Amino acid sequence: MQKVEHIGIAVKSLTSSMPLFEKLLKNKCYKTETVESEQVNTAFFLKDKTKIELLESTDPDGVIARFIEKRGEGIHHIAFEVNNIAEEMTRLRNDGFILLNNEPKRGADNKLVCFIHPKSTNGILIEICQEIR
Ligand code: ZN
Repeated sequence: MQKVEHIGIAVKSLTSSMPLFEKLLKNKCYKTETVESEQVNTAFFLKDKTKIELLESTDPDGVIARFIEKRGEGIHHIAFEVNNIAEEMTRLRNDGFILLNNEPKRGADNKLVCFIHPKSTNGILIEICQEIR
């Protein structure tokens, strides 16, 4: 695993949270993207090398909507960059981590992603991601 690639934050509404984060970070959102398969609209911010991803549900039964229902808005996941997602998934599986998908899937911002179940990582949802080259 390399560095933290981004931090994912679950929000009820991008319309109200984007201006808030633009004000907080003094930086404009550089990209918005809908990921149909995950039922989310995303908005990305960069502050120096730190990337923040805001996630809004597009569906009342989507994972982000259910997360907010249970735990409220807030940090949803921490994403680590990896060079080879397939190798990293094998390593994690062999080390006893529970992966939420068996194959890497297409995420936002030109990435292949895989999530690790929070019950195997002290309650924190971890994403690993690899840039699609
Ligand atoms: Zn993410």
